[in-house]
Amino acid sequence: MSQILIAEDELRIAAFLTKGLRAAGYAPIATADGAEAIDLALSGDVDLLILDIGLHGPDGFAVLRAIRQAGSTLPVIILTARTSVQDTVAGLDGGADDYMAKPFRFEELLARVRLRLRSETTSADATTITAGGVTLDLRTRQGVVDGRHVDLSAREFTLAETLVRNAGQVLSREQLLSRVWGYDFDPGSNVVDVYIRYLRNKLGPEHIITVRGMGYRLAAD
Ligand code: CA
Repeated sequence: MSQILIAEDELRIAAFLTKGLRAAGYAPIATADGAEAIDLALSGDVDLLILDIGLHGPDGFAVLRAIRQAGSTLPVIILTARTSVQDTVAGLDGGADDYMAKPFRFEELLARVRLRLRSETTSADATTITAGGVTLDLRTRQGVVDGRHVDLSAREFTLAETLVRNAGQVLSREQLLSRVWGYDFDPGSNVVDVYIRYLRNKLGPEHIITVRGMGYRLAAD
């Protein structure tokens, strides 16, 4: 199981990431402190670092510099405010593998985590996922349903991917909101139901089952 270090001093975001990464099968550990992040990153027990810029103690840039100077090739994904993307990219100086602008969608971060861990291990990369007659090509972002090609918008694809990865399991509206739309969602929003309807029209209504009072699930094989 891959161990992922989260260096983030906003507790809400750290908790959101910890929960999501654990649900995705990773072993996350979180720290709000830059000095501790450096120690943990260099401990050899960590497979990937999600690094925020603003931290207690040394900031994200200092953490990145310290671990690269120590010779670590640990994959690093930087989290940065959307308004300071330019500064961040300039400040990275090639030391980070990727960055994400906040607010971000969890599934998008997860896709990058998978990609980084995969390029580390160079294992056979799965470019398609399949469940219940629905196949999604993660590279072309296209779907094939019962042998028929389906074009999906970016959001529809992410929603479909979440359902396929959790095939047969009921996902609540809240879970779908936080995984597909990110943590800045309005819990009263009906956007999930709207997108489920779009997806049903494209995939065929029998593929997505409504579980009354609980949420939705993909019909498993
Ligand atoms: Ca921060």
